[in-house]
Amino acid sequence: MRFDVITLFPDMFFAITDEGVIARAIKKSLLSIHTWQLRDFSANKHRNIDDKPYGGGAGMVMQVKPIRDCIAKIKQETPQTKVIYLSPQGQKLTHQLAVKISTFDSVTLLCGRYEGVDERIIQQDVDMEISIGDYVISGGELAAMVLIDSVSRQIPGVLGNQDSLNDSFANELLDYPHYTRPEIVDGQQVPEVLLSGHQANIDAWRKDQALKNTQIKRQDLIKKQPNI
Ligand code: SAM
Repeated sequence: MRFDVITLFPDMFFAITDEGVIARAIKKSLLSIHTWQLRDFSANKHRNIDDKPYGGGAGMVMQVKPIRDCIAKIKQETPQTKVIYLSPQGQKLTHQLAVKISTFDSVTLLCGRYEGVDERIIQQDVDMEISIGDYVISGGELAAMVLIDSVSRQIPGVLGNQDSLNDSFANELLDYPHYTRPEIVDGQQVPEVLLSGHQANIDAWRKDQALKNTQIKRQDLIKKQPNI
């Protein structure tokens, strides 16, 4: 899968391209991330890409032309790309949406700054608006990295075969509790069943714990499933 990212801060993406799961997936050629410095598409010598809002008010607005030219350039390389604007006003990023996006061959992530982008970009150039939650952060870069990470985990081969199957939300439930060595820490013991070596009992215990975990922490997920 190919990710193109339109940003004023390309170096922020080293946080995911240089280390961890995403870096390994890039090395294995399972995905690629291409950053585009929006200022390279500015028409003036000061490399401005923003201007004051019509109607007055606080902040600056990112202009149409540099963004549109940048998208056009990206589409020369990857014509089918879906353009996603990271925005607090967008559809909420969920596990299901991450799975859906992971089936696309190519996405272009537009990272806003200041007051965001000129509305005409959203009307004409953007296929989807996606939010990472009901709060406002200072720029789309962190949101884009969250999206890239959550989507990449759904691409076959990025994780070990079974690694994401029981992750929270994969089955509409939260994950079960995890324990590792040693067996006893400060008087706290690992549940007996996990030491039993009896896989069927372990699986049943984990299923039950995932359900209990969800009932305690996220009743709203249980309510979505009438059969539980
Ligand atoms: N004035 C905008 C509003 O209230 O809708 C917020 C602009 S915000 C300061 C600057 C940029 O950060 C946005 O254009 C967007 O790209 C990004 N951003 C902020 N919050 C976000 C969120 N919850 N999800 C995704 N992107 C977000």
